[in-house]
Amino acid sequence: MGAHVGSVGRFGIAGELLTMTVLPAPIRTCVGCRSRREQSALRRYVRAASGEVRESRSAAGRGAWICADSQNCLDRAFSTRGFDRALGARSFTKNTNFRNRLTMAK
Ligand SMILES: [Zn+2]
Repeated sequence: MGAHVGSVGRFGIAGELLTMTVLPAPIRTCVGCRSRREQSALRRYVRAASGEVRESRSAAGRGAWICADSQNCLDRAFSTRGFDRALGARSFTKNTNFRNRLTMAK
């Protein structure tokens, strides 16, 4: 009987540890609407050292997060210059090729 109680106790401790090690989903701010959402609901655009911008979740460099389901957020990121701020450059909001490519990528 004593051994049985002991095993129940260990199970309880393991359950608490499991709960504590569950990490919250990473939260990012959309540069278009400024809302904070789970990373999985956003796209990340990265400016590489070469200056090229592409969509990637893992590439190194400065990144801009945009709601994945909203063309409006993409438009706002350009009109409010959120893209330029996030990527640390001034040219993106005036680069129509870049903008058209992102729009078509939708
Ligand atoms: Zn957004």
